[in-house]
Amino acid sequence: MEDRLSAVKGLDKEVGKLPDVVAYPRSEEDVVKIVEVALQEHVPLVPRGGGVSSARGIYVTLGGVMIDMRNMDKIESRKMEVIVDAGARYKFNARVYPTLWKYATVGGNFCGGSWGIGSLEYGISWDQVTEVRMVNPKGKLVTLRGGDVKVAAHAEGTTGIVTKLRVMTRENLPIESRVVTFNEFKEASSFTVKLYEELPPLYHMVLRSPEISRMTVGPEKWHLVLAWEKDKDVDVKGSDGTFLWENRDRFFAGAYRENFESYDYTTYHLPLREFSGVVMESSKFDPVIEVEFANDFKAHLDFMVRGRETMESLKRFLGKSTFDVDDVYLNSRLSRDHLQKILWYKRAYDKEDLFNPGKVKF
Ligand SMILES: Cc1cc2nc3c(=O)[nH]c(=O)nc-3n(C[C@H](O)[C@H](O)[C@H](O)COP(=O)(O)OP(=O)(O)OC[C@H]3O[C@@H](n4cnc5c(N)ncnc54)[C@H](O)[C@@H]3O)c2cc1C
Repeated sequence: MEDRLSAVKGLDKEVGKLPDVVAYPRSEEDVVKIVEVALQEHVPLVPRGGGVSSARGIYVTLGGVMIDMRNMDKIESRKMEVIVDAGARYKFNARVYPTLWKYATVGGNFCGGSWGIGSLEYGISWDQVTEVRMVNPKGKLVTLRGGDVKVAAHAEGTTGIVTKLRVMTRENLPIESRVVTFNEFKEASSFTVKLYEELPPLYHMVLRSPEISRMTVGPEKWHLVLAWEKDKDVDVKGSDGTFLWENRDRFFAGAYRENFESYDYTTYHLPLREFSGVVMESSKFDPVIEVEFANDFKAHLDFMVRGRETMESLKRFLGKSTFDVDDVYLNSRLSRDHLQKILWYKRAYDKEDLFNPGKVKF
């Protein structure tokens, strides 16, 4: 295995300390061996997929071994599902996928992501995963099925290194898209809420503030981006949106990465009928706003503002987020039952906290 542990390089994007070595496994057997050595030597392990987690997923607290999964990238297609290696990219007809799909891996998104494109119709990313194989903190290759996949979902590698996933796919239906523009936010938000409650299932829906609209497709107005699967009988009037859907990697994280990296960024998930008031009240902080809608009757708001101080004031004004991307602890982003599965597993199998240490608060 020694020759597979190579020197640390190109890790400037990860926050925190640097790992001592990076391992590049090519198979499940390699992952088992790496875990065995780490357990023997009592060194921490931090798995890495595409490295674009927005919630400080790759935050190396104690050095140790980083396991870069990107060489494990096979995709096996089955009827309405795929069996993929954890390091595979989204090169299949995924039901839900992250905005940064060009960089993210399926395993990294399952272990560190949550919602994404398609989540209005299909829900949260891990609900699309029916089976997961992982090397657990005892060095055993285990299979999790059904609701048990939550032991590894958004667990950021704290309960095991995921090697393979069985993921449901979408029928091969083209996606239609439209953008509806509004001069006033009030008009945009009431249209959005009505659409959410009354329309047949849309595949995806995003509301974007004028600054983002100007920087992507223009004109500088509130834009409601709508997408649906072609044979679903949805009729939404608006300008032709083909160009828009081809550029969907500029939604959310994409818009942030391309245009607002000098801004501070945070995320809040609010009940559908509350978000409009919060957006209007927050206008005194002059935020750039993007709102993603999933199937949970919540508005997923991304706020981008200039300067740390303005961000701190905005956060004081908004209160504690139930989906806190700034918190190193994954506790701040999960439902109680989901978190409990992770805590129990961690307590039972990783008493030393070697698997992505410092990410779980007991
Ligand atoms: C500013 C910003 C905003 C974003 N907003 C959104 C959004 O709204 N919707 C969206 O869908 N995506 C969003 N993303 C992207 C999202 O976080 C990533 O696309 C994806 O979740 C991470 O995939 P990755 O392969 O890069 O994982 P990584 O960043 O490499 O890893 C994520 C976490 O999982 C762990 N991990 C990685 N691989 C494994 C494995 N095989 N086994 C166990 N643990 C593992 C890592 O240790 C880390 O804790 C955003 C990203 C950024 C930068």
